[in-house]
Amino acid sequence: MRNSDTCRVGFLWNPSLETFDFGTKHPIRIGRFQMVRDFLEANNFLSQPNVEILTPEPIPDDLLKIIHAQNYLNEVRRISETGEGEIAVDTPGYLGIFENASITSGATVTGVRAIASGRIDHFLSPTGGFHHAKFDWGGGFCIFNDVAAAVYELKKLGYHRILVADFDVHHGNGTQTYFYEDPDVMQISFHEDPEWMFPHDGFIEDIGEGPGRGYNINMHFPMDSCDGVYKYAFDEIVPRLVEFFKPEFIIFLPGFDAHYRDRLAHLNLTTDMIRYITTFFHNAAHRYSECRFGVLASGGYSKDSLNWGIGVVMSVLSGYDYEPPKQEPPYGDDDETWDTVRGNVEKVKSLVFPELGI
Ligand SMILES: [Zn+2]
Ligand SMILES: [Zn+2]
Repeated sequence: MRNSDTCRVGFLWNPSLETFDFGTKHPIRIGRFQMVRDFLEANNFLSQPNVEILTPEPIPDDLLKIIHAQNYLNEVRRISETGEGEIAVDTPGYLGIFENASITSGATVTGVRAIASGRIDHFLSPTGGFHHAKFDWGGGFCIFNDVAAAVYELKKLGYHRILVADFDVHHGNGTQTYFYEDPDVMQISFHEDPEWMFPHDGFIEDIGEGPGRGYNINMHFPMDSCDGVYKYAFDEIVPRLVEFFKPEFIIFLPGFDAHYRDRLAHLNLTTDMIRYITTFFHNAAHRYSECRFGVLASGGYSKDSLNWGIGVVMSVLSGYDYEPPKQEPPYGDDDETWDTVRGNVEKVKSLVFPELGI
């Protein structure tokens, strides 16, 4: 068991991650990943003796063929070679899109392999978290599902009980489809109410099927939910699940787009909550998973809150101090929010816990 101040952390970085082009009006813009890297450097994370830069490799062909249909791969290849067409209405095509998707998703697999080989304990993949992509579908800014690729790679390496903890503000609808009947993969997704929020999937009733029943956990929140209700739901639901599952590997999407400064969605978290959740899973990885903990940065469309969130996550992983500016969301949790969240929490617990016998 390693103390957090001696954990070895890999940061996946190479300028080739930035070779995409969704256009200047798209929420994912050129410069985003360089900004994250520069922020980490400016805050001295990259010069820590326990932090190393790992060079991402393209996603291996055999994994790509497991996670995506051949006709879908052919279509991405065609768009990549001609620069014409789109993956989806919110995910434009461009020349070289196949290669970029391959390296940005491959970064996550590179991180997984580095942990499995014993080189590092934790990694942060700044581009990772393409959780909307499905077997034969891309969209929601996602081309190749690196979360699914990471899980299949871990299975190939002989791991069981893989936890996908997805706290991006949008439901991980793509990842859910791959492992919906698989009790070796527990997926916990906290997100904004899918009734109005993309991808309009991830309802509490969707708890998995067959042997996977109870291993797919969806908890959603009404608009303007703040740290208070979020922490309540987390404490009520997550620790019991993790203690029951005792994961051998934890894959974590922190959800920087649930921050109040991020207006692509409508939750009102601060980085205090991001630190709380990250610390919980980091500790759980030390307790159950022999430290194996991979973080996929996922969404985050406000420059400040993305940087602060990245700093907080790297601080937890590396043990190196970082304190973001004090944050004050515009609203607090009102009675109606509390009532809705309490109701949702009870529903999750009454549907999921009996299936697992906890
Ligand atoms: Zn650690
Ligand atoms: Zn998101």
